[in-house]
Amino acid sequence: MFRFFNFCLLLLISSYGYACKFSNVEFATDFSGGRLAQCQQLSGNKFLLTFNPENTPINDSPWYSFKVTAKQPQTVSIVMEVNDGKHRYQPKVSRDGKHWQKQSFTLDNSKMLLSLSADSQPTWVSGQEVISNVDYYLWGKSLADANIVEQEVIGHSVQERPIYSLAARAGGNEWLVILGRQHPPEITGALAMFPFTETLLGASPLALKFRERFNILVVPDLNPDGVYHGNWRHNVNGVDLNRDWKHFKQPETAAVNDYLTALVAQKQKIAMAVDFHSTHKDIFYSMPHDYGVENPQLVNNWLEALQLAIVNEYPDFQVVQKPGNNPDRGVFKQYIADKFKVHAITYEMGDETDRVFIDKLAVKAANTLMTTMLATQEQN
Ligand SMILES: [Zn+2]
Repeated sequence: MFRFFNFCLLLLISSYGYACKFSNVEFATDFSGGRLAQCQQLSGNKFLLTFNPENTPINDSPWYSFKVTAKQPQTVSIVMEVNDGKHRYQPKVSRDGKHWQKQSFTLDNSKMLLSLSADSQPTWVSGQEVISNVDYYLWGKSLADANIVEQEVIGHSVQERPIYSLAARAGGNEWLVILGRQHPPEITGALAMFPFTETLLGASPLALKFRERFNILVVPDLNPDGVYHGNWRHNVNGVDLNRDWKHFKQPETAAVNDYLTALVAQKQKIAMAVDFHSTHKDIFYSMPHDYGVENPQLVNNWLEALQLAIVNEYPDFQVVQKPGNNPDRGVFKQYIADKFKVHAITYEMGDETDRVFIDKLAVKAANTLMTTMLATQEQN
């Protein structure tokens, strides 16, 4: 009897939007980025939620995102368990899906325990803030409507979602390329990408001078299927896009490669690229300065300038640069260096880095990058 009872309460969520409905409490994923595999009622107000990756093997980055509602206002205790991985993201909660705050929790080995007040209005619980494909589209559209960029579709994902680019065209032929969201849960990278790009596209004298010489191409959301499904890391073919920049077997990476290849065929020149990610700490992965790329000191000069720019406000923050060369891994940074013979960096923000700091650092990083690139010799 007990076994049968438990079996009845074990619900499977097999597709987008399906809800786990219990008599008093409901868990739903009916929004872009929602992810939850199974729910089980352990006792009246206590539930076990289970999360699965899109496929394995996979980098250990369990994404979770769901909404909780309760018929009557009550405290809901949630135990979150991950299959094929350990928790990485500390929970955040929101009442509107837009404004988020940290949620207290405890870890018991691989289980995360939290308890929250629920009522008939949804409470979102998520590994990080939710930034959807629509958010990227509307952001790009607002910049296009203000005549700052052209918003175009440069390709489609495996599931035919558009991959948008934003281009700000200059007088010269040099291009700064910005890439984001190869890895769907890496939200702090996205939280840096927005202010970084807005600073480059802003109306400061420095930004105006920069855009007289340099074109800017932004592909802010390279993995829209992964973003939609709340994937841990891969596209819907189960492939890590940041390992596909050698053979371009996936339509997402191929779209960017085709676009950049066509630019260069039109006598345009890639000057530098920045790819936004998140990891456990703040770090800038670069190519070695002696790798044989143009302007060998560009990244060293930039990051030194960034350190000087941030030190007054954040005296304890160290800009950490880690140069590396991985010729066979299919990483974007390496592809830019090998194909276009210029520097590229992987701009990584820590998963739990303070959000105000991410914003301030990104603005200073954009300003110091513009100054450093403007100091280079014009290439024709
Ligand atoms: Zn990443």
